[in-house]
Amino acid sequence: MKNLILVIAAVCFAAIVSAQNATPAATNGAKPASAQAAPAATTPATAKPTPVSWYGCPKCDFTSQKEGKCPTHATALVKDRAYFCEDGSTSEKAGKCKDGKDMAMMDCKAKMMSARAKMKDAKPASTPAAAPAKADPAKK
Ligand SMILES: [Zn+2]
Repeated sequence: MKNLILVIAAVCFAAIVSAQNATPAATNGAKPASAQAAPAATTPATAKPTPVSWYGCPKCDFTSQKEGKCPTHATALVKDRAYFCEDGSTSEKAGKCKDGKDMAMMDCKAKMMSARAKMKDAKPASTPAAAPAKADPAKK
């Protein structure tokens, strides 16, 4: 039993010594770390107040960061996440249109995704034209 106590005492002593040795290094290292953490914490806060509001055309995938009209349809752009009817009326909340249909929600992200998908679909048409350039005789 005495042996066990001695071992525990030895381990405790070793732990205290190593902790004391580590303390100056830890405090030295902690100071610059906390100084760096302070500006890092404020950076996301300054980045936050730039919420971009998007507007989209109810009839096509046109989206804009400004209020205005669709260049194709000349219809007033509807704010992202707002609700709209085919007759052009808009609302901040979901509801029913004059014709009894549910109001549709403007989803600019979905519009951007489908606009991108269309661009991707259009790309393969241009690649065959670029392919013959690779096989030009300069590569002898
Ligand atoms: Zn449009």
